[in-house]
Amino acid sequence: MADDLGKRIDTLAGWLYKSMYLVVFTGAGISTESGLRDFRGPDGLWTRRDKGLGTPRQDFSGAKPNSGHAAITGLQNLGKLKFLISQNVDNLHLKSGINPDRLAELHGNLTKVRCEECQFKMDRMEGERECPLCGGNLVSTVVDFGMSLPEKDLMESYEHSRKCDLFVVVGSSLVVYPAADMPRVALQAGARLVIINQGETPFDDQADLRFIEAIGEILPPAVARLRRLLKQKS
Ligand code: ZN
Repeated sequence: MADDLGKRIDTLAGWLYKSMYLVVFTGAGISTESGLRDFRGPDGLWTRRDKGLGTPRQDFSGAKPNSGHAAITGLQNLGKLKFLISQNVDNLHLKSGINPDRLAELHGNLTKVRCEECQFKMDRMEGERECPLCGGNLVSTVVDFGMSLPEKDLMESYEHSRKCDLFVVVGSSLVVYPAADMPRVALQAGARLVIINQGETPFDDQADLRFIEAIGEILPPAVARLRRLLKQKS
């Protein structure tokens, strides 16, 4: 499979070039190259738990965006990215320069709090418990097990998945709701599906293009080729 890697990256770059409505979907796998553990990857939290190994607490504070995050920000800056849906709470997409208006964080963001009353969102600050707008209670935006997902983020995710012509999954095993639902919606809308993930996903058979290689080996060169294609045109 590895010998046709260059060809598959070319194909991806070509599809990115032609796409009029690109949606990217990221899971924990994109942040493993920033030193954060994912869940079902080779050394993921659930994988370790199932092997009886320890599941160390994550230290998010020092994590920096990696070349995969930068490549997605590159897609945005080239005018290609319509919308980014992420399951990650690590803030690395915003840190890498993604426009908050183009981003849905389905599971919230560790660095943000929201007002329980008026839903105003702001950066978490030490000692700040009251909403500056209405005095309501500030609570974590992170969605724990059993909690409902943020409605606006969820609605936007469905809306853009329904409209896209290219849906690129990056570092998600697509097993939990609603992650498992977005590619289905995109496929129904006639979009092409690309999956970049080191483990299996339930959508592998339906993917138009599949990468099992590391994200850092795929996305940065694909975006570099896209940049060249765009230059040739102009
Ligand atoms: Zn408020």
